[in-house]
Amino acid sequence: MKTQLNFEDYQTAFAHLSDSDLRAAHRLFSLMNQSWLVNLASPLGLAALRLRVPLTRYMIEKTMFRQFCGGKTLDGSKQTIAGLWESRVATLLDFGMEGKNHEDAFEKTLAENLRAIEFAASEQSVPVVVTKISGLAANELLEKSDREEELSDQELIAYGKLENRLHLLASKASELGVSLFIDGEESWMQNTIDRLTIDLMAEFNKDRVVVYNTYQIYRWDKLADLKSDIEEGQKKGYKIGAKLVRGAYMDKERKRAELLAYKSPIHANKEAVDADYDEALIYCADRYEDVALCCASHNAKSNKLLADYIVEKKLPKDHPHLNFCQLQGMSDNLTFNLASQGYNVAKYVVYGPVKEVFPYLVRRAKENSSVTGDVSRELSMIRHEMKRRDLC
Ligand SMILES: Cc1cc2nc3c(=O)[nH]c(=O)nc-3n(C[C@H](O)[C@H](O)[C@H](O)COP(=O)(O)OP(=O)(O)OC[C@H]3O[C@@H](n4cnc5c(N)ncnc54)[C@H](O)[C@@H]3O)c2cc1C
Repeated sequence: MKTQLNFEDYQTAFAHLSDSDLRAAHRLFSLMNQSWLVNLASPLGLAALRLRVPLTRYMIEKTMFRQFCGGKTLDGSKQTIAGLWESRVATLLDFGMEGKNHEDAFEKTLAENLRAIEFAASEQSVPVVVTKISGLAANELLEKSDREEELSDQELIAYGKLENRLHLLASKASELGVSLFIDGEESWMQNTIDRLTIDLMAEFNKDRVVVYNTYQIYRWDKLADLKSDIEEGQKKGYKIGAKLVRGAYMDKERKRAELLAYKSPIHANKEAVDADYDEALIYCADRYEDVALCCASHNAKSNKLLADYIVEKKLPKDHPHLNFCQLQGMSDNLTFNLASQGYNVAKYVVYGPVKEVFPYLVRRAKENSSVTGDVSRELSMIRHEMKRRDLC
């Protein structure tokens, strides 16, 4: 049985945007479509932010930040959250500070995540807070632990602090009825992240799914890991939270593997990733009592596959274990059409000071730029809607 879902219904997709919002999005995606411009602007933007070149922050704020972020602070994001909720789109709150390497920054991230959990507990529209383990401890520590090297006394203390931070976040989320997503990162830290997250799932996911790990299915070993984690959870009496993504660091992963002459952890081609991703979706949906699934993807085919499967198998569309999610500012055709058909769907809403979220904005710009000169997916959808509204 097929659903009524139509991801080409751009009227529903962009109903929340005024004509001037749509024009602004068109200008931005047209610029980002030029890969040479994105490649040039990314390092220049970072340098200008560091050197406090006048107007840089303002210009970023009025363009990319406005498109892809909720606000500079939690309070400043409330309007975005409320706007999404008007269309029954939930928010997954993500404090976007990245790339810091000192204790003060880790404590700041912890405090911000805790504050976000408290806020989420008071808002039906915010079921989840997202965190990145590299925002709570130094990369070198995560990498050394990943290589299973012996940690120095000082490193052991730092590792203990990381465990405490994570425990504090998960216990607060558990106590207040919120869930916690742990983002997936580079493969040379991911074993550490997996170990820590599985320990949290074993402790906190007995009655309800509090903690979700991220499975980066572009890795050829991750479908098997997902299946064995689910089996282990079933044996030991806890549920798995599985955020399924394809993965964001493909080029970096491949380059490093080549440089250091080890086998790349990434599948050889996109077809293999797509096949594993879709299998993972169905595998989790078939076990939805024991696995809470989040299809975190902008791929229309994968989203449709899961949406149709839910209807075909008569699974409860609104079950808290069956979720879809896209990034703020992207793939509104998926988000708002899924919401209009009664699925659980959310946006990842990143917030934080402009300078801190800039690396995240660069990743979004690169994702939307075209190497081949084709019109990007987002730009083409915006053009359809502009035509429908007689704006061009
Ligand atoms: C809500 C949300 C949360 C996310 N959280 C994370 C996270 O925690 N960690 C993380 O790493 N990413 C995360 N991502 C990003 C995600 O991993 C993808 O980079 C991005 O969503 C693009 O994949 P897609 O499924 O949307 O669709 P598509 O556009 O169909 O797929 C593009 C992806 O396919 C893979 N790919 C493309 N070409 C090839 C090739 N030749 N060989 C092998 N693989 C290829 C890459 O992963 C690429 O990003 C998140 C995305 C969303 C929507």
